[in-house]
Parts: sequence; structure tokens; C-alpha cells
Amino acid sequence: MSEKLILDGNVVANAVKNELKGRISTLKQNGITPCLATILVGDDSSSATYVKMKGNACAKLGIESRKIHLDKETTTEQLLETINALNNDKDVHGILLQHPVPSHIDERKAFEAIKIDKDVDGVTSFGYGQTALGFGKYPSCTPAAIMKIMEHYGLEASGKHAVVVGRSPILGKPVSALLLNKDATVTTCHSRTLHVEEYVKQADIVIAAVGKPNFIQGDWIKPGAVILDAGYNKGNIGDVDYEACLENASAITPVPGGVGPVTISMLLKHTVDSAEAVNV
Ligand code: NAP
Repeated sequence: MSEKLILDGNVVANAVKNELKGRISTLKQNGITPCLATILVGDDSSSATYVKMKGNACAKLGIESRKIHLDKETTTEQLLETINALNNDKDVHGILLQHPVPSHIDERKAFEAIKIDKDVDGVTSFGYGQTALGFGKYPSCTPAAIMKIMEHYGLEASGKHAVVVGRSPILGKPVSALLLNKDATVTTCHSRTLHVEEYVKQADIVIAAVGKPNFIQGDWIKPGAVILDAGYNKGNIGDVDYEACLENASAITPVPGGVGPVTISMLLKHTVDSAEAVNV
């Protein structure tokens, strides 16, 4: 069996965070503390955990996090008012609306209300469009994390066939665009794709963004393929059957400890980028 490269998300996340430390201290010397506002609507426990993790990551680096927790009965209008207030608050550099919001809220309308300069989570259609055209400042954080892991480990996308399984607005679609911008040939699969495995079997790069535990099977993997698993399912299980896929892969992200930690570090990076863009 040839040597496998295990793509360690904690190593990449620490490299990103270390690079931010000096930039944050320069901002602070100029009287500016980068600030991420997080909005949580309702009581979903997983969402509350994600928001808490993001707040803790901010605190560790000296980024301020302003946590706004709204009642589950909040209306779309009330949420828009909250977002507008943050848009107009010059001390807030990034706004993150935790997905999903309760179903009576128009989530898309709420995302679109976030000012483009503060869309550090890459959820607006304007931000997505800029990302797709190749000049987005803040791509959605998980796609940005996938690209950062590839960059860190020197994994080339150019000329490769990348197969992305999933086409969500925050993950599958933007990561497909980012890979295309890096000169990969990209196939994006979704729930209506017939015989997904036939596409994955041709992939030099497999991106799993499907939200189904162990969906990508070992015998779908072409020898030497690079696998990045964005999936995160109950019980710390990815979308890739890790042990089985390891056999043929040349490089693979584990779950946990792969794409997840880098996603958070990209959110921190975007918040610092935004604070610098406004203030330096
Ligand atoms: P999502 O919005 O539910 O999208 C899932 C995508 O998978 C959809 O495009 C869907 O196709 C496609 N799909 C579903 N069943 C399929 C099948 N049988 N064959 C092919 N495609 C299929 O999920 P998401 O928000 O993109 O998240 C995907 C995964 O990433 C989840 O495990 C989530 O927890 C994880 N995630 C991780 C991070 C992180 O920081 N690591 C961040 C965000 C998400 P249709 O479009 O046709 O419905």
C-alpha cells in the first residue's frame, strides 16, 4: 500500500490562526478590535453548539464576538431589523446568521439583508456571484476551507477532474465554482444524478458535501484520488466511508479533525480581513 497523506485540519487551522495573531494585534494597536456578530434564532441545540464553538474560537484569538440570541417566535421582519442594526454598527465587521432558522422565517431574505462587506460567511447571492466570477472577498467558509487545505498541502486542482457530491448554496455550488476557478474540470452531482458512483470513479479529487453518513464508498475511489470530506453527521461521521476509501486514496481528510476546524478558522480570517478593509 502506498503512503497516504492524512490532511490534518487542525494543522491547517492553526497555521491560519497563527497568521492572524499579528494582524489582530496590529488592529488593536490602532484601537480596533475585530468583531463578529452571531445571530442564533430559536433553540436548536446543534445550532447553539456551532455558535458557541465560533464564539470560543473568536475569544481565543482576541476577536470580539457579539452573540445575539433571538426567540424562536421571531418574525422575518424582526430578524431583518436586527441584521440592519448590525449592518449599520461600525464596530461590527462580520455578521453570521446561523443556519437553519425556524421554518416560518424567510431565511433567504434574511441572508440577502446582510451587507456584502460584512458577509464573512459567504451567504448572500451577491457574495456567491462574486465568488463564482473569481473575485469574491469572502467565499462561504467550508468551500474556502477545502481550498485552503488543498493549498496548504500543495494539492493541485489544475487539470484535474473534481467531482463534488452536493450542490447546496453554502457548500456544493461554491466549492464547484472555486475548483473551476483553479482550472479543475468539475462535475457537480446531486440527488437527481443517476449513478453518482460512475462520476466519483472518474474523480482525481472527490469533494463529499452530501450530508449522508459514509455515503462515498471505498470501491468508488480511483487509485491516487484526493478526498475532502465536508460531511458532518451525527456521531462524528463524515460523508465518506473513511477506512474503505483510505485504501485507494492518496490523500484524505478525517472526520472529525478535517474540514471542520479549517471552516472556523476561515470565518475568523474573513472577520479580520473585514476589520482591516474598513479600518486600515
Ligand atoms: P444540504 O443543504 O442538505 O445539501 C446536500 C446536498 O447533497 C444537496 O445538494 C443534495 O441534492 C445532495 N444529495 C442528497 N442526497 C444525494 C444523493 N443520494 N446523491 C447525490 N447527492 C445527494 O447539506 P449541506 O449544508 O451542503 O451540508 C452537507 C454536509 O456538509 C452535511 O454533512 C453538513 O453537516 C456538512 N457541513 C459541514 C460543515 C463544516 O464546517 N465541516 C459546514 C457545512 C456543512 P439536491 O440539491 O438535489 O437536494
